[in-house]
Amino acid sequence: MNLPAVVRRGARLLLDEVFPLRCAGCGRSGAALCPACVALLPVADGPRCQVCWAPTQHELCAICAADGRAFAAARAACSYSGLAERLVLRLKFASERALAEPLAEAMVAALGALPPRPDRLVAAVPMRSVRRRVRGYNQAEVLAAHLARRTGLAHDWRALRRVRGGTPSARAPNLVARAALVRDAFRADGRRLGGRSVLLVDDVLTTGATAHECARALRAAGAAVVDVVTFARTD
Ligand SMILES: [Zn+2]
Ligand SMILES: [Zn+2]
Repeated sequence: MNLPAVVRRGARLLLDEVFPLRCAGCGRSGAALCPACVALLPVADGPRCQVCWAPTQHELCAICAADGRAFAAARAACSYSGLAERLVLRLKFASERALAEPLAEAMVAALGALPPRPDRLVAAVPMRSVRRRVRGYNQAEVLAAHLARRTGLAHDWRALRRVRGGTPSARAPNLVARAALVRDAFRADGRRLGGRSVLLVDDVLTTGATAHECARALRAAGAAVVDVVTFARTD
């Protein structure tokens, strides 16, 4: 349904009146995530892999050095621990969709750490349709939509789709099992990509296996280059 902006704005104001937003970090009312809690997000600092941003003392981590990646660079707003982990779990499993906006806002700063590319297209890591039906939304897509709106970049959620396979959980430790779960799981639409650079969005980057498979599909369909931005990154 395509309601006029004034009606949507009115509905939003009314909803805010009836259900005031509470900060997911500290519980204070007024915002889904208050500025004080944004300042508490765990910083991903220390020396990191120049490609996948994993902590390492070398220019590249062991995986990037040995196998290479289909994406050029991945960066994240923060480290996947403490408050960041709680926020992602609430966005994913507690239907707290309002959190996507402040989380995407935090991701805008991480974009500055990626190489600049002309004419970027924003895409999201797709979810299996059965999962999406259960949750009602794909959190990566919601983050991507906010990020696109905030940066003025084009966003196409049909550019990349999932054709098979499971989703590795953020804490699954087995690298080989994670890679096998997502192998050949994605297809990209070359007509929608038009040879542009792609900015791939997800909530958390763990081993990078999912991002690698998405990037492989995007590049096979003609994407010039694929960079990845996530809200959080496991250390
Ligand atoms: Zn707070
Ligand atoms: Zn790496």
